[in-house]
Amino acid sequence: MAKATATCTCATCGATFTRTKICRNRREADGWEAWAAANFDECDACYTARKASEREAAAAAEAELPLTLHMTGYPYKDNTPVVLFFGGDTMPRKDDIKALGYRWLFADDYITYGYSVQRGEQKWIKVVPQEDAYDEIERARAFGAVIDDSIVDTEYLAKQAAAKRERVAAAEASGITEPVRPDCYPAGRWNGKVYGTAAYGYRIYVDNAEVRISNDDADALKNYAKALAAWREAT
Ligand SMILES: [Zn+2]
Repeated sequence: MAKATATCTCATCGATFTRTKICRNRREADGWEAWAAANFDECDACYTARKASEREAAAAAEAELPLTLHMTGYPYKDNTPVVLFFGGDTMPRKDDIKALGYRWLFADDYITYGYSVQRGEQKWIKVVPQEDAYDEIERARAFGAVIDDSIVDTEYLAKQAAAKRERVAAAEASGITEPVRPDCYPAGRWNGKVYGTAAYGYRIYVDNAEVRISNDDADALKNYAKALAAWREAT
């Protein structure tokens, strides 16, 4: 084994920096050093600065475009959820977008298909079941957003939405209604489970932290969870 250490020069700022690699032998290491010195010409600081300015330029170009709703996901494939996100000039409408239930998230965790997103880029994103996508798209349209032409599955999504409306109507006709969240419903992430007993007290886990709750709240949450499960089963 031989360690190759190449001294490289930044073409942007002129600073020298090193790149290293472990090679099988000295001869290979010497060869790599010569190659690296000739080919690596951007220091870490200039790379970071260039990426930041590219991100800014992309954001500025995006802000020139009208507010637009995009969709990714795989309709037709099983019943995977779809990812809706806003592009274009979102800044002036951000409060309205947030009110529609979109969240400002790292795009590359969600947008993995059909659109290229920069590493570290954030967008207003909402993940919905396919059957809710059509209504969500109509909501965005009513709100003044342009709908991306490449959303070509609207007919299919409309059918799914209609089928859901029928299931909801049938459930309601048989006396099952969508339960209303009780006031004591936790604000953070809750798995829907209530632990404990009336004699020893109840607790739930919110954002992975234990929260002790009163017996009345425990009953309300348990009833809600049960009613919600029945509602989901029926619709
Ligand atoms: Zn540099």
